[in-house]
Amino acid sequence: MLKTSSALPSHTPVLIAGGGPVGLTLAALLARYGVASLVVEADEAYCTGSRAICMSRRSQEILGWVGADQPLVRKGLSWVGGRSYYRDREVLHFEMPTEPTQRFAPMVNIQQYFVEQFAHEAALAFGNLADVRWRSRVSQVRQQDDGVEVVVQSPGGTSTVRADWLVACDGGRSTVREQLGLQLQGMEYEGRYVIVDIRQKSRRAVERLAWFDPPSNPGSTLLMHRQPDDVWRIDYQIRPGEDPLEAVRPENVLPRVQSHLRMIGEDAPWEVLWISIYNAKCLTLDDYRHGRVLFAGDAAHLVPIFGVRGLNSGLDDAGNLAWKLARVVQGRSPQVLLDSYSTERVHAARENMAYGAKSTEFMAPPDFAFALMRQATLRLALDDATVRPLINPRQSAPITYARSPLNLPGAGTGWSDASATPGSPAPEALLADGSHLSRHFGAGFVCLVFATRPPSALEALQSRGVPCLWVEPEATQAWQRYGLGQGVAGALVLVRPDGYVMGRWSGLDASALAAAWDASGVAT
Ligand SMILES: Cc1cc2nc3c(=O)[nH]c(=O)nc-3n(C[C@H](O)[C@H](O)[C@H](O)COP(=O)(O)OP(=O)(O)OC[C@H]3O[C@@H](n4cnc5c(N)ncnc54)[C@H](O)[C@@H]3O)c2cc1C
Repeated sequence: MLKTSSALPSHTPVLIAGGGPVGLTLAALLARYGVASLVVEADEAYCTGSRAICMSRRSQEILGWVGADQPLVRKGLSWVGGRSYYRDREVLHFEMPTEPTQRFAPMVNIQQYFVEQFAHEAALAFGNLADVRWRSRVSQVRQQDDGVEVVVQSPGGTSTVRADWLVACDGGRSTVREQLGLQLQGMEYEGRYVIVDIRQKSRRAVERLAWFDPPSNPGSTLLMHRQPDDVWRIDYQIRPGEDPLEAVRPENVLPRVQSHLRMIGEDAPWEVLWISIYNAKCLTLDDYRHGRVLFAGDAAHLVPIFGVRGLNSGLDDAGNLAWKLARVVQGRSPQVLLDSYSTERVHAARENMAYGAKSTEFMAPPDFAFALMRQATLRLALDDATVRPLINPRQSAPITYARSPLNLPGAGTGWSDASATPGSPAPEALLADGSHLSRHFGAGFVCLVFATRPPSALEALQSRGVPCLWVEPEATQAWQRYGLGQGVAGALVLVRPDGYVMGRWSGLDASALAAAWDASGVAT
């Protein structure tokens, strides 16, 4: 069991309600920026049961900012693609964009409790900045002008903690949300999936596997993913009209699983670990900032599991919020910076819900018309390769904040493409020494200086606390990915602490960047 029983502090700069993966990652990121937080978690340990398994490249990168990427990658099972079958025939073999020089695989399968463990260990590695209290539940929240009073029930009794800021990471049934009288808005799908985790040894490649109307379970849709420690995640759709309570009874689940394992030739002995039921939801708050209270992860939004954007987008919330909150707490930025967290991440949630809805409509058609369209697509895909992309599952990808209030004007000319425009995730690339550019993200602002010679000191930036990184012309991949074609003399690209492009300027005159920075309102 995890610690602790000492009395809660009476004051904290940041109280994080909920020590799930998002709360613990946020605590680690805040600690990395030098900000103390108190994490209050109702459970006595990391989560159990069937939760997230697919962690995107972007999530691996975010966890890398606090050193939690290495244990994750060591433990997890990396993968790049998958196969879909209609009845007993393969109709799709897809691969996600990747190349050998990438720092991370497009996806890693790993049980959510490992993500929580690695984020927690990363938080503790920053000394005593992150104080995590288990078996402690937030029960009341009282908002005030300059802080929040939070009532916490813990083994030692009831305490009131005064927090300058409260971040609600307390999941889909958020107490904080309820205390503020807020409701998630959106829609729920009726189609239900049984989620089963089993333990069985397998030598099969790590891929995302999907079957539509398989002979093992006619009429159903079934997904399989391998996880570490010989665990399979099997998700299958229940029949229309089937009682969900009946559907999760082992006597109804085991034969369906057995029938499928037999069909695909997995004959090693197996045991069930967890059985649960799931229905897809597309729900979000309209605003993730309410005075001194901020929302992140499932407390802020719920997206369908098809498309794997739930936890992945929650970690992106943490990555977006941490640097902004740290700067506000440290008095280096005005509070209004936190409004951009809400603008950007509500936009991301709406995009994620749109992708998730499309995946859900394919995986669990909500009505006869969708079912008919899916069947037609699958039938055509048997012989027509041009139809197959319609079956392609939409995987998690970072969202562009094209309309972010933080995007700086001043692009200039000479850019050969739109991949590194303000509001885009800064493209990954190899530097001249073979290292990855993304290793320079996550610590603070950085200005990428694309120049043919070492830049003379860009004092205007250094004096504003923005370090510069020279990207030599030999780093051809980087020049290309940042849209710098032949004959371009140089450029400056300002990258935010969360690895997003904030602005870009052709030429090497830092004064335009400095002026835009001063006008941006990011720094007090
Ligand atoms: C079957 C399934 C498969 C999924 N697969 C994926 C996937 O592959 N990829 C992906 O990205 N996402 C996936 N998800 C979604 C993912 O699990 C969630 O998005 C993720 O758990 C959200 O993390 P969180 O920290 O915001 O919330 P949670 O994980 O719900 O954590 C919230 C924490 O708050 C605590 N808490 C609650 N109330 C209080 C309170 N009052 N006081 C203190 N603590 C409190 C809870 O005990 C909990 O530990 C899946 C979900 C399911 C159900």
